[in-house]
Amino acid sequence: MKVSLDRLNKERRIEIDEDDPQFAGSPGRESTVGPLRVRLLLRAAAGAVQVTGTLNGVFTGVCDRCMEPFTRERHITVDEVFELDEVETRSREINVSSHVRDIVMEQVPVRQLCSDGCRGICTGCSANLNREQCRCT
Ligand SMILES: [Zn+2]
Ligand SMILES: [Zn+2]
Repeated sequence: MKVSLDRLNKERRIEIDEDDPQFAGSPGRESTVGPLRVRLLLRAAAGAVQVTGTLNGVFTGVCDRCMEPFTRERHITVDEVFELDEVETRSREINVSSHVRDIVMEQVPVRQLCSDGCRGICTGCSANLNREQCRCT
């Protein structure tokens, strides 16, 4: 997903509404089920691009408390200014996918829970307390 810098400077604002498959099935904590819906408005700024909008997707993860895999919808709100790097300035192209990647990496927490109320695993009997009774006496 790349946007021409010259086009942005001419039109002043460019809307993006696309599916981004870059995280689908990826091995990291930013893995998604299906593509990420990217809706962004890019506005030209001096040496930078102002970006607002949303990123929506179903992310997969492994719960840090009960160790079960889970999926969770995330709605990420974007309101940032991207400074253009050397490559973008030279190529006259904004690499939107790479900025989206940075935002997602920043927004998906390192420590993840399947739900805020996850009861975890009993350290005594290893029962998953979300669906089992503790067997400790
Ligand atoms: Zn859990
Ligand atoms: Zn127990």
